[in-house]
Amino acid sequence: MKTKSYLAKNYNRKKISFFKGKGSFLYGTNGAKYLDFVQGIAVNSLGHAHPELIKAINKQSKKLWHVSNAFIIPEGEKLAKKLAKKTFADSVIFQNSGAEATEAAIKVARRYFYSIGKPYKNRILCVKNSFHGRTLAAIYASGSKKMIEGFGPKIGGFDHFEFGNHKSLKKKIKKNTAAIMVETIMGEGGIKVIPNWCLKGLRKICNQKKILLILDEVQCGVGRSGDFFAFEKSKIKPDIVPIAKGIGGGFPIGAVLMNKKVASGMTPGTHGSTFGGNPLAMIVGNTVMDIVSKKKFLNSVKKNSSYFFEKLIIIKNKYPKIIKEIRGEGFLLGIKLYGDQKRFIKLLMDNKLLTIKAAENVVRILPPLNVKKQEIDLAIKIIDKVCEKYK
Ligand SMILES: *Cc1c(COP(=O)(O)O)cnc(C)c1O
Repeated sequence: MKTKSYLAKNYNRKKISFFKGKGSFLYGTNGAKYLDFVQGIAVNSLGHAHPELIKAINKQSKKLWHVSNAFIIPEGEKLAKKLAKKTFADSVIFQNSGAEATEAAIKVARRYFYSIGKPYKNRILCVKNSFHGRTLAAIYASGSKKMIEGFGPKIGGFDHFEFGNHKSLKKKIKKNTAAIMVETIMGEGGIKVIPNWCLKGLRKICNQKKILLILDEVQCGVGRSGDFFAFEKSKIKPDIVPIAKGIGGGFPIGAVLMNKKVASGMTPGTHGSTFGGNPLAMIVGNTVMDIVSKKKFLNSVKKNSSYFFEKLIIIKNKYPKIIKEIRGEGFLLGIKLYGDQKRFIKLLMDNKLLTIKAAENVVRILPPLNVKKQEIDLAIKIIDKVCEKYK
């Protein structure tokens, strides 16, 4: 059956839809039940229809949905305090999406240098073929030819270096550089983890050159890596961190976290958002935060994700001609294939496991952070079966 779609064709959608979700599972309109290891691309951090999120949003929906940021929003004050207490941050600005959060991060960096009388320091140094979102500035920040095609004129102010190329990184830092902005773990770019010693190196360079470090944790943050933030294991402190995906548990929330130094530039009127931080969103964010930021919860993410990783390594060793590498950290995992990853993902879907592609022929695996061990076992069984078929 082919029905006309009135949606623009900017997505190549899979011919499948769902009517219900529960925990790690999605129920298709085709009658099939799927193990959902996409979770809205790392968005549903607590799976589908989490009872505490349902309770929180139901209760708040009867009280108050939206008021302007012209007034104090206590639910937002509360979430900002929790984020600050848990992390490096001293201040937070709420947004509605990842791209907005990364753009706000860029604004905070530029505004800081403006406020200290160095407005010429305004260029942001990013990784080539990274991902920071789809707004105009974000696509130019990402430095991907494909994403900017047809969307000129160019938005200036971004320079790029190759992932892992330290020489090119150092060479690209100029007098007018304001900040280095990188994803702590590249998501769309193929699940590439910046090792601890490189994070430390980045911090050191930024200190030496007196520039800011922005770590985009829109995908890898909020517990997905096993720590609340993926950079925590390196013991460094960034200056600015945009987050989004996981913090809303399925409700659109973005935020930019910053230290006191850079927050000083964000005086009244410098930034704003009509929807950002409204009571309904903030109630959900608070509920996600209360669960995800607990040490016990994060320890379970660490433990279960290591279990998953080990099982994936066993599969890789069983099919060394199919799987080149297992990548990632926590529940941001990737299977790098030698061959076509799209056919592999299709086979997984035919066997009722949903995954999503990333660059470099990687199959991206994003379970909910509260996934059960037997669900991991089920996924492993399906991946094993698909490897057998894929040969
Ligand atoms: C998804 C993502 C974004 C963009 O988020 P949107 O909500 O789609 O705007 C930005 N940065 C990273 C690292 C992401 O993974």
